[in-house]
Amino acid sequence: MTANTKIPYKIYLEENEMPQAWYNVRADMQNKPAPLRNPGTGQPMTAAELEGVFCRELVQQELDNTTAYIPIPQEIRDFYKMYRPSPLVRAYCLEEKLQTPAKIYYKFEGNNTSGSHKLNSAIAQAYYAKRQGLRGVTTETGAGQWGTALSMACAYLGLDCQVYMVKCSYEQKPFRREVMRTYGAKVTPSPSNTTQVGRKILAEHPDTTGSLGCAISEAVEAAVSQEGYRYVLGSVLNQVLLHQSVIGLETKAAMEKYGIRADIIIGCAGGGSNLGGLISPFAGEMLRGERDYRIIAVEPASCPSLTRGKFAYDFCDTGMVCPLAKMYTLGSGFIPSANHAGGLRYHGMSGIVSQLYHDGLLEAVSVEQTKVFEAAEYFARVEGILPAPESSHAIRVAIDEAVKCRETGEAKTIVFGLTGTGYFDMVAYEKYNNGEMSDRIPTDEELAASLAQLPKVAE
Ligand SMILES: *Cc1c(COP(=O)(O)O)cnc(C)c1O
Repeated sequence: MTANTKIPYKIYLEENEMPQAWYNVRADMQNKPAPLRNPGTGQPMTAAELEGVFCRELVQQELDNTTAYIPIPQEIRDFYKMYRPSPLVRAYCLEEKLQTPAKIYYKFEGNNTSGSHKLNSAIAQAYYAKRQGLRGVTTETGAGQWGTALSMACAYLGLDCQVYMVKCSYEQKPFRREVMRTYGAKVTPSPSNTTQVGRKILAEHPDTTGSLGCAISEAVEAAVSQEGYRYVLGSVLNQVLLHQSVIGLETKAAMEKYGIRADIIIGCAGGGSNLGGLISPFAGEMLRGERDYRIIAVEPASCPSLTRGKFAYDFCDTGMVCPLAKMYTLGSGFIPSANHAGGLRYHGMSGIVSQLYHDGLLEAVSVEQTKVFEAAEYFARVEGILPAPESSHAIRVAIDEAVKCRETGEAKTIVFGLTGTGYFDMVAYEKYNNGEMSDRIPTDEELAASLAQLPKVAE
């Protein structure tokens, strides 16, 4: 490739250039992520224990710290072909508008009906459930993206899909709910009277509008109390990061095709799955001592697990029924303010991303939501795509870095993950357009109070 060859606006890989295997970054990590622990005994969770809740093959993937490449089954690759390879886009219009010498690229994962990267793992999880001969899966959804992705995947494979949707979202986001029902999912507002834990919560707090932690507890109970069902989760877990590595592998392949070399890689971080998937192959190069990159995780200032949390064992859910995970956490009792990036309102962070951050492979920054929506609108007007509020966290920092390049005159190459579209987030955009959006940042005292409740785990 000669230096003056113009890079196309959209770099598409051929179907046969799509990855044949997922990349498991744990294989190259010297410090492996800490094991999940049983909240009762404090001992590492065994495969047998996990298989009561999760699908067998997914438990193997969850526990596998050594296999670098795990083949993507043909049926999943066939499904991926409906919306992958996804484009790596050179943001020429954004560069010009910013008058920056930086080269900006984004990997666009919003090109499917569910509207986000979550479908990459939803189809994999549904596939392994089907192959195990299960009847269906249960899950929770907050903002609705994960529930939508899982509904699509289950419809394709003919699996039953039961979604516990946080009650306030169920009522405020009727369109998301109807998309899921259109794909055949059964959607129950949580807390509900269909589970013991739901009935208990309703008896104590009849007017509650629900929470993600409560919906998780209901979905887990629904899975273990029905024959032929397992529970699935859309982020945080090692297996989800593994499936999302398809994002990073395609990004890397597209860059290699045109001789592009990234200096800075940026992703938004909720539970850490899209960021972890995007950076995995690049972090692998760093871990093997082959290359160096600057990697930046972007989180909301209202839910700053990496930048202000503690690296410790904690519960993954508010109901304290799930295993303990060692991660950057704000405490499982931490309730973030009503930030509009629903997908980033999680108290913890993937164990893999947490360990990489702890070991200094990546940086983290937090941004306020008005700044995020300012970047979202700027991007929409320049590049055309209406971004999800979650994705716009990455846009914010990509723009900030490009502006720095304008000031220093450096022509850095910036790559960021554009995880999804924001069509179902128009109430948030409306608030921003009306000047009614505010930033609610937790105080040190609030975080200290929540962190004081961390479980005591001997390591
Ligand atoms: C869920 C979601 C996220 C955040 O989840 P991660 O597991 O951190 O990737 C980001 N963007 C979109 C569009 C989402 O739906």
